[in-house]
Amino acid sequence: MLVVVAHPDDETFGLGGVVARFTDAGTDVSILCLTHGEASTLGEGELRRIRSEELRMAATDLGADSVDILDLPDGNLSTVPLERIAQLVESRLDRTDGLLVFGPGGVTGHPDHIRATQAALIAAGRTGAAVLGWVIPHHVASALNDELGTTFQGVTHADVVVEVDRERHIRACRRHTSQLNPVLWRRLELLGDEEWLVWLRPPGTGTAHTGAR
Ligand SMILES: [Zn+2]
Repeated sequence: MLVVVAHPDDETFGLGGVVARFTDAGTDVSILCLTHGEASTLGEGELRRIRSEELRMAATDLGADSVDILDLPDGNLSTVPLERIAQLVESRLDRTDGLLVFGPGGVTGHPDHIRATQAALIAAGRTGAAVLGWVIPHHVASALNDELGTTFQGVTHADVVVEVDRERHIRACRRHTSQLNPVLWRRLELLGDEEWLVWLRPPGTGTAHTGAR
């Protein structure tokens, strides 16, 4: 499985519980992160290097086999042609059955998240890989937005509900020392031990060239 995310910490803060479930089940998981996270307003110092190191440590905790960090501009993925990002993803889809990405609204609404998912969907459409999108329940999004002024986009339906080992997930989250924040902890508290996923491209959809089979 290939995990495609925009920023270091997305793979863990967002997807980490699910990633650990897959690796525990014996799935080979690679992580593709499109940026070095240099535009974060959290953390101090040389963020490019610090956040890359945090990502590699967290990925090891989650049981991922490899991490690939690209040098696209953090906060500005919308300035990179979608086709270019899609090709970068597609070049890493050799022998990949499925992708795991943020849901279509980017979950937090961040434009980089939305762009990463769009590119992953285009690439998967060419190879025929399935795509799972991570989403959060509407009541969790509403609570976060009311309490903390965030812009989470929740959904009312999941195709797959995954029970996660939240303690293990939290240990991996703590590797991203520079980015820890109250919103993360409150979200994990509200989610309990469940994560929601939706199929953005169900298995067996075929490729964009052959159409649905
Ligand atoms: Zn992010």
